[in-house]
Amino acid sequence: KAKQAGGSKLAFFTSDILVEASSRLTIASELKRAVAENELELYLQPQIDGANGAVVGAEALLRWNHPVKGFLTPDSFIDVAEQTRAIRLVTGWLVKEVFGIIERWQTQYPQLFISFNVSALDLADNELLRRMTEVLADHPIDTSRIELEIVESAIIENFESASSILVKLRKLGFCVAIDDFGTGYSSLAYLDKLPVDKLKIDREFISKLGEGEQSGVVKSIIDLAGNFGLRVVAEGVETAEQEHLLKAMGCNRVQGYYYSKPLPMSEFEAKYLTL
Ligand code: C2E
Ligand code: MG
Ligand code: MG
Ligand code: MG
Repeated sequence: KAKQAGGSKLAFFTSDILVEASSRLTIASELKRAVAENELELYLQPQIDGANGAVVGAEALLRWNHPVKGFLTPDSFIDVAEQTRAIRLVTGWLVKEVFGIIERWQTQYPQLFISFNVSALDLADNELLRRMTEVLADHPIDTSRIELEIVESAIIENFESASSILVKLRKLGFCVAIDDFGTGYSSLAYLDKLPVDKLKIDREFISKLGEGEQSGVVKSIIDLAGNFGLRVVAEGVETAEQEHLLKAMGCNRVQGYYYSKPLPMSEFEAKYLTL
């Protein structure tokens, strides 16, 4: 993220600035339309219990069926959505969708959870908390089935506000996971103070598993989670060897292409559930 911000500052000194500024505004206003016109879609990627292969939950990942540009993944619009604050609308939409899914699953699959990604801006004030409380009133569900994924920097850069909101959400029973763990500050001093339940080991470390030294990092994160009483999941698992090494290191939760790519809701349900 920091690298990307630096990159866009460089663009400031080129003649692309006007083009860039106007394309940002276009994306931001198009996102408003996207929410209103139902162009956004959630894909689900299963999280697996490595011990028995069972699906324990899923991460919701955003996709945009753009009427002109076609099918878009978050890389092409999330940064702009964050910079223009349009992300707040998107997160508002997301919350309602996620609650709706849990409500639909809860009779037959009360143990499944859904996680969704939250941006720094969503933790800058009370809007997300208000939204979640409001949607909960309409969809009375087991809040422990919903997990918020947040990168470490989003909590640390705005610590007072972010941590007070997360504390309140956890009091309501929601779970909090640190996404992309190991790539941010990874400071022990902070880990102790973060109101979180779970660490998601970044894909970068998992992809290097099997190359000797990298397993040291992964093993350290798994042990760290254990010592802090946190759950741990490995993301970006792509091979049987990675799965095997993770199991041997005591990481029982896994997610990645080896099990499944993110799937449209209907495909996820057809493949894993019998509703
Ligand atoms: P993330 O939350 O860390 O999500 C994991 C990303 O890795 C997803 O990309 C997923 O499709 C991809 N992935 C999963 N397993 C594998 C694997 O085995 N190998 C490889 N190479 N990739 C794998 P995606 O869906 O393109 O999302 C990218 C990022 O965009 C997410 O990273 C998250 O930071 C952000 N994002 C996605 N959906 C949302 C959303 O609804 N709201 C917000 N604020 N951010 C979102
Ligand atoms: Mg995530
Ligand atoms: Mg991640
Ligand atoms: Mg990420």
